[in-house]
Amino acid sequence: MNIILLGPPGAGKGTQSQRLVDRRGMRQLSTGDMLRAAVKAQTPIGQRAKAVMDAGELVSDEIVSALISAELEAMDEDTGAIFDGYPRTAVQAAALDEILAKHGRSLDHVIELEVNEDALVERIVGRFSCANCGKGYHDIFERPKVEGVCDVCGATEFKRRPDDNEETVRTRMAEYRAKTAPILPIYDAQGIVSRVDGMADIEAVTDRIEAILS
Ligand code: AMP
Repeated sequence: MNIILLGPPGAGKGTQSQRLVDRRGMRQLSTGDMLRAAVKAQTPIGQRAKAVMDAGELVSDEIVSALISAELEAMDEDTGAIFDGYPRTAVQAAALDEILAKHGRSLDHVIELEVNEDALVERIVGRFSCANCGKGYHDIFERPKVEGVCDVCGATEFKRRPDDNEETVRTRMAEYRAKTAPILPIYDAQGIVSRVDGMADIEAVTDRIEAILS
């Protein structure tokens, strides 16, 4: 099974992808995570992408499609893919069709997480994660049980994404509205879009997605 999770920044795509990975043995393909890894490793792609990401704008279609293609190439053909944060433009949607066809795969579902944009800014600017194991937290909604100590691994270092500030978040949302939301009709025409209330609690959103996939 191959699915796309669509929705503006902070809609919960990463959180829900991770839960589907745990429950269904699917694989999360997040271009944002791939790009952050490239920035950290200071690869040529990372060096080119950093300023664009820090500004909240979109990295070039060629770069992100090449990243996705390479990941799928390396994947076991029986493992389902969750595309998280990709495609984000009509050009990427067309590239994904080609990449999937090349690997004998097709899209089963596009799940749009519907959210209230004003609430998203609060969600995003408060989020942070364990620098060691990546467990996600939030200043208001989910603090570590013991202040300053990761619940999962006990580490005491945490990190925040440099693009999770209000100004950049507003640009990321504008990019979503202008370039990503317009690709939904492509998938609507194929009859594969399901809409889920992304403002519901995490568990309820996962249950709803599971119901769509089964
Ligand atoms: P995300 O983690 O999905 O919010 O992505 C973080 C940043 O990485 C975005 O604001 C973009 O700058 C870049 N990015 C991630 N995925 C894509 C994509 N599919 N197309 C273009 N830029 C992307």
